[in-house]
Amino acid sequence: MSPRVATTSPQSPTDTSTKALVRRLVRDYVGAHRQKIAIALVCMVLVALTTGAFTQLIKPIINDIFVAKREEMLLPIALAALAVFLIKGIATYGQSVLMSLIGHKIVAELQAQLYARLIGCDLAFFNRTAPGTLVSRFINDISVLRNTVSTTLVAIGKDSLTALVLVGVMFYEDWILAIIAFLAFPTAILPMVKIGRRMRKISGATQSQVGTLSTLLDESFQGIRSVKAYGMEAYETARARSTIDEVFELNYKGARVRGALHPIMEGLGGIAIVAVILYGGHQVITSNDPNAAGSFFAFIFALLLAYEPIKRLARLNSSLQEGLAAAARVFELLDLKPEITNRPGAAPLAVEGGAIAFQDVSFSYDDKTPALHQVDLSVPAGKTVALVGPSGAGKSTIMNLLPRFYDVDDGRVTIDGQDLREVTLASLRDKIALVSQEVLLFDDTIRANIAYGRSGASEPDIVAAAQAAGADDFIRQLPAGYDTAVGPRGVKLSGGQRQRVAIARAMLKNAPILLLDEATSSLDSESERQVQAALTQLMVGRTSLVIAHRLSTVVHADVIYVLEAGRIVESGGHGELLARGGPYAKLYALQFADSQREPAEAAS
Ligand code: ATP
Repeated sequence: MSPRVATTSPQSPTDTSTKALVRRLVRDYVGAHRQKIAIALVCMVLVALTTGAFTQLIKPIINDIFVAKREEMLLPIALAALAVFLIKGIATYGQSVLMSLIGHKIVAELQAQLYARLIGCDLAFFNRTAPGTLVSRFINDISVLRNTVSTTLVAIGKDSLTALVLVGVMFYEDWILAIIAFLAFPTAILPMVKIGRRMRKISGATQSQVGTLSTLLDESFQGIRSVKAYGMEAYETARARSTIDEVFELNYKGARVRGALHPIMEGLGGIAIVAVILYGGHQVITSNDPNAAGSFFAFIFALLLAYEPIKRLARLNSSLQEGLAAAARVFELLDLKPEITNRPGAAPLAVEGGAIAFQDVSFSYDDKTPALHQVDLSVPAGKTVALVGPSGAGKSTIMNLLPRFYDVDDGRVTIDGQDLREVTLASLRDKIALVSQEVLLFDDTIRANIAYGRSGASEPDIVAAAQAAGADDFIRQLPAGYDTAVGPRGVKLSGGQRQRVAIARAMLKNAPILLLDEATSSLDSESERQVQAALTQLMVGRTSLVIAHRLSTVVHADVIYVLEAGRIVESGGHGELLARGGPYAKLYALQFADSQREPAEAAS
């Protein structure tokens, strides 16, 4: 058997090393905002300088007002303080607005890219990935990433510049005192690195658990009818509780690890202050310099003001690592490449009659258990072929191979002689209309649901399609007619109405090939009759492959293929197969037993 083909997987695994992730973030996302970052940097420089300037205002306050008591200095110092705070306020506003703008732009960009990537992924990918997990990466991981981008940029810009200016002030005022104050700070580096490493792991685990929680919520709310019907509220609540508790534990652990920096930094801050008071205070007491007090206060203010930005810089690594864990998870998805794609040189599918042929086709979903074995099947142009067989026989699998939801492992599938793998996907899917058991309507108006896939369709075309599908009458009776919103998944319509809207959608698409998975759901006989009439109308003039659950379909089909365990065991016309007394005759007796009264009617 040839290698696995119908999956989506990263072609080259995402490089999740810190360096590669940072480089990719900067190159692909942050880099695009160079101009705004430059303006934000100017604002940050102003914030840093005004903070430094404030410490220099302390000196005249102490020396001129407190010590020398020069009244004429009051107004100039007050005005200078006002100017410093005004400039700092405006600059802080500028940098924070710009940083938010950049952060949110990056989120929007990443989300749009991620959506475009995911929507292009193969069906196999969606079969193995819970939607909740994807939603969680979309919302949570990207938001963690945004936080990191903003905090990192602010830390690199505002905090480091402010700290630099203030440390500069300290060295300027008394370089020996500055060295003494910072002597102990390098001891924080090792814990910072360790904490960062742990945070990356914890953050990755938290995000993954949040994904599990989203999946759980998604499943239980989607399946709310079953939850209620089986009285499983308490069970589901307990299940949710246990996942919520795990998320809580991880968040709490993260907070503890992240918080471990506080005692370290406070301790170092304390040591610095003690050193400054002892050494600096001693200098002031023993000095004859009249400006010594002013310098000492300026130094202490600079130290106190530098403390917060330095603390944030110390936290930078752990917040960066949290963001990188999120970036790795987002990039992994961004690097997915669908494997079912157009081959180089693929031509558009040219349909004349739309004859379908399966030649010696074998396929398995998981490489282990084959779902189809050497299937040979043909649907002549314009004819109707019915697939029958027990559950799990492979009927839906045959349907899945036609629009290339999956590619065959062996053999080939052709339409009018063209191998499906040699034609473009868009042209192939354009020529196929699919009406399946699970009718999926979107939470939109009936008009939009019918026109789905043909967004430019004119009103008369939409109405004509609805009329042909026997849906026009009931649509007109709805409060807003074609503008009626159908609710999530079409819940506001009955099962039969939903099916007729889906048939109208296929009518409007007007594709030459029709894949029809007939509903098994028990519609009442009037609904069933209307749906059946609509389907019969839809099949006119098209090549139709039908998974037949209705007697009338099998009876009227040009050819019936009987499947068992992935193999075709019999084929032929209804009468011929019945007369043969083989698998079809048995299946007929079993599956269509309920309709025993109808065969004569249907066959007539
Ligand atoms: P039914 O009448 O119950 O819908 P079917 O004849 O359409 O059944 P298929 O859905 O084609 O049967 O399934 C054929 C086999 O492939 C089954 O054994 C099934 O378990 C397996 N199968 C179907 N879909 C998948 C999937 N997405 N991943 C893995 N295995 C699958």
